[in-house]
This record gives sequence, structure tokens and C-alpha cells, in this order.
Amino acid sequence: MFLEPHFKGQRSGWIEVICGSMFSGKTEELIRRLKRAKIANQKVEIFKPKVDKRYDDANVVSHDANSILSTPIEHSSKLLLLTEGVNVVGIDEAQFFDMDLPENVQKLALRGLRIIIAGLDMDFKGRPFGPMPNLLAIAEYITKVHAICPHCGNLATHSYRLTDEGDTVVLGEKDRYEPRCRTCYHMGNILDLRVNNEKGEKKNK
Ligand code: ZN
Repeated sequence: MFLEPHFKGQRSGWIEVICGSMFSGKTEELIRRLKRAKIANQKVEIFKPKVDKRYDDANVVSHDANSILSTPIEHSSKLLLLTEGVNVVGIDEAQFFDMDLPENVQKLALRGLRIIIAGLDMDFKGRPFGPMPNLLAIAEYITKVHAICPHCGNLATHSYRLTDEGDTVVLGEKDRYEPRCRTCYHMGNILDLRVNNEKGEKKNK
């Protein structure tokens, strides 16, 4: 479990990243940290990208409905305007933000703010997702959380898409994705390729 660092004297800002696959509990961990800061009377604000409309517009909502109010914003530069007097900034679904997010959160950290970012580290093709790799590079603290692979029970690191939509951003939940370990993820891709090839061969006949 992530434990906040102890400080002596002047507190400076820093960046934390919580990453992992879908269904790994990233948002739950973000909410846990933010709620504890709130209890300590720190001023907390939470932001998410406007693209994520799966749930209630004004909420960061995790899958167990343990939610905190959040502000949807179109561009990460808005963070600089909306965090006056704030101590702790939470950012959910960071993978959907613009590529200026790392630069903008660095500015906030330099102002002395604590930034806690949650996001998918890989897209459904296993590629680093949006600004996440850059955020991981600049963060002081990184927590990688894991789901459980429903096929073998190992730790799941990948988000496997159950449908054959090709876009990188396809919002969905258990109807569209499942967490998988590296082996089951790759086995699934090989099987999908075979099925698609067979479909193609049939079409060509
Ligand atoms: Zn597995």
C-alpha cells in the first residue's frame, strides 16, 4: 500500500501516478488517497477529461460506486486556472488527456501542490497510452495496480477487448473488456487472428 512520505520543514509539491489495466482498482486507490487528504482538511480538487462520459458527468466514479465529485475539463491547461488555493489535485482517466498534461502537472507541483494521477498505462493493443508514459517518467511515486486474470488467476496487466472495434478509444466496461495476464492476452490475440483469417478465407472462396 502507498504510504505518504513524511516531511520535515517546508513541504514541496510532487507527482504520484497510479497505473494499471482495466478493473485493477486505480480509481478506488485514487479516491482512497483523496479522501484521506480531505479528512486532514486539505483542499482537494478532482479533474477528469471531458471525453469520459460513461458515468455521471460531474463525478469521478469508480466501479464500486464509491465516488467523489469531479470537474470535467477539455484541456489540461485548465488545471492551471482551476487550482487556486488547492493543496491536492486528483486526475482520473489521465490516458485520455492531451499530451500537455505532463508539463501542466509539473507546473502545479512546482507551485507546491500534490498531484495524484490515475490512468491506464496500456491501450487494448498493449501500447503505452496517451500521456501516461511521460507522466510515469516525471512522477516521484508510481504505483502499478493489477487486476486478476479470469482465465488463469495470475495477475492481470493487460486490457483485452472482447469486441472487434479497431479504435483506440472505445469506452466500455465488462461488456467490452476483460483484464488478462500477459500470456492469456497474447493467446487471445493469436486466436482472434486465426478466427479473422478463417473468416477472410471463407469470404474469398
Ligand atoms: Zn491468464
